[in-house]
Amino acid sequence: LMHLTRKLIEIRSMLLSIDKSDALKLPSIVVIGSQSSGKSSVLESIVGHEFLPKGNNMVTRRPLELTLVHTPGAAAEYGEFPALALGRVTDFTAIQRTLTDLNTAVPASDCVSDEPIDLRIYSPHVPDLTLIDLPGYIQISSMDQPESLKERISGLCEKYIREPNIILAVCAADVDLANSPALRASRRVDPLGLRTIGVVTKMDLVPPQQGADVLTGNRYPLHLGYVGVVTKSAVAAAKRAKDTSSMSLARREEDDFFRTNRDVFSSQALMVGTSTLRRRLMDVLESSMASSLHSITNAVELELEEAAYQFKVQYNDRRISAESYVAETIDKLKSRVSEYTEHFRRPVVREKLKAMLDDKMMDVLEQLYWVEKRTPELTDLALQQRVRPQDVDAYWRHKLDAASSLLTKSGIGRDSTMLVAEGLRAFIDAIAQGEPFNHHPRTAERLTELAHSILRSRIGVTADQVENCIKPYKYDIETDEREWELGRQQAVQLFESEMAMCEVQLKDIRRRVGGARRLGGLIAYLKNVEEREKQRKAAILESGDGDADVTPESYRYPAAQLLDARHAIMYSDRLGTLRMRLAALKSKRCRGGPENDVLCPEAFLDVVAGKLAYTSAMFINIELLDHFFYEFPREIDSRLLYDLDRRDIEEFARENPAIKKHLELQERKDKLEEVMKRLNSLSALRSDPKPTSRSR
Ligand code: GDP
Repeated sequence: LMHLTRKLIEIRSMLLSIDKSDALKLPSIVVIGSQSSGKSSVLESIVGHEFLPKGNNMVTRRPLELTLVHTPGAAAEYGEFPALALGRVTDFTAIQRTLTDLNTAVPASDCVSDEPIDLRIYSPHVPDLTLIDLPGYIQISSMDQPESLKERISGLCEKYIREPNIILAVCAADVDLANSPALRASRRVDPLGLRTIGVVTKMDLVPPQQGADVLTGNRYPLHLGYVGVVTKSAVAAAKRAKDTSSMSLARREEDDFFRTNRDVFSSQALMVGTSTLRRRLMDVLESSMASSLHSITNAVELELEEAAYQFKVQYNDRRISAESYVAETIDKLKSRVSEYTEHFRRPVVREKLKAMLDDKMMDVLEQLYWVEKRTPELTDLALQQRVRPQDVDAYWRHKLDAASSLLTKSGIGRDSTMLVAEGLRAFIDAIAQGEPFNHHPRTAERLTELAHSILRSRIGVTADQVENCIKPYKYDIETDEREWELGRQQAVQLFESEMAMCEVQLKDIRRRVGGARRLGGLIAYLKNVEEREKQRKAAILESGDGDADVTPESYRYPAAQLLDARHAIMYSDRLGTLRMRLAALKSKRCRGGPENDVLCPEAFLDVVAGKLAYTSAMFINIELLDHFFYEFPREIDSRLLYDLDRRDIEEFARENPAIKKHLELQERKDKLEEVMKRLNSLSALRSDPKPTSRSR
């Protein structure tokens, strides 16, 4: 039956990692006692090593989950802190140091913490046991141990002494049991004393008969009884003997004590000595575990059913792993990138660049033609059938050359490269901000950084290359009939949409100021005021009288409306010019072909813009886009994935709440299944102690 405890202890640790609630708990032995009652000495004598933190100043601030694993025949004894990944710690003073560090790490303001320290000790000399050591009860509050701390410790102990745990109540023989906080606490939760073992320490400090009286338990009967021990601290024993095997020395002192007083203790069949205590604890834990077996099996079965049901309903039994999530995420990312190359095919880029150049062209036209007073003259020439292009004033030839050069020298290499790079950047940013990278902020940042660094390394080269390749257009532009006609048509379209835009603005203004009539009034008023202002200024200039009254007539309309009116004037002037030029563009003369370029600068400039867009797109494609779409997926592999170790992958996957939930439920189900399997095999063993068939 020894195996039962052992196996259930393993199951207990598994259950602890599944669920912290009480439902899935197998019993453990909880050690409580007041400070200096000898709690540490008892635990150390059970383990056979000194390993607990020592000192006066509240050295136990966290619960210690101590799992003892009996390893028969093993040469080495060692401890393990599963949460710390320190590996096997064979030096017990190192264990002691680690425990001290873990305890003192609890901030002084918190005093105690609920979070248990998990320590396993493997040794041929320990029994299979689980023990929980708790901070000692404080009896007298002092300056540095406030009243609230007393309550916090009681609260912490309260949590652990609940069912199904066994309570090991440590009291010193030289202190009246009535004053033992441990017994008082245990009586509150276990009034019949069914799951409390009393340990009476320091038996050597009272006369044997008095000690024996305490152990009979007549005053505070405990079903599981009292065990008397002498566990003078190992340190003290070592000091006395200057011996390294201090624990065994302490043990010998205990043996001596009880042997000397044999007549008092054995006559009443009292339980005394550390070995008796160990045996007693093993028996009690085992029978307690055995009796929990049935209920825990039922509880686990219920939990498992629920987990399996949820797994089916929520995830249709689909299993995932952190690795599969990472792989899937990266695959999706790459295929999204490669799909996105569609948006950067050459005709698409060309169109975008052309739109940018159209804007530039309109700016040039505005600057050189629309504000030019002689432009109506040019329009008239275009509309007249008789004029031949070579008869047109050289002024207009210069004008056209200036316009063309403004357009070709407007920094196209840089602007067009930036436009495309900006498009790529926006695409990557959208990926980084969207599902699932919104859950992975650090990875999203890496991703954008990778993309940006590729772009940064290519932008300068690309811009220079484009600028270089459009250079010929800065000097000479050849245009054939077909190109001309296409340019003219596109210019017509551009003008039409520009006109439509002006109309929309005018309509908006009309609506804002309260109708066409009111706008007419506003404009007339504004023109009137401006006219008079002009006259007055002229008069002043003429008379040379600086002191004449120059205060403008106070405006009758709100300033916002006057501003609207001013804009309305501007838009309708613009509309007039555009209408005029549109007529020219549609004229027979302009349709006549490239030799009419001077008369139809819009068509000509559009041809130029088209050529610039074509060439830019070609080189941006080679220098920027091809590089980017080649490099980016490779950078993802080598810079994003390559560095990830197992822990990173787990962490990454769990950043996504949906994946975290999925993984957690899956793990819970897996663990419960494993526990169930073990519980079932235990039950099978117990209900069938003598298997008849060897093949089983
Ligand atoms: P804890 O504060 O409850 O953990 O108590 P300790 O185990 O640290 O013991 C408190 C003090 O009592 C120490 O000085 C121990 O040496 C001493 N002590 C513990 N057990 C015995 C014992 O059986 N006999 C005697 N005489 N002293 C003991």
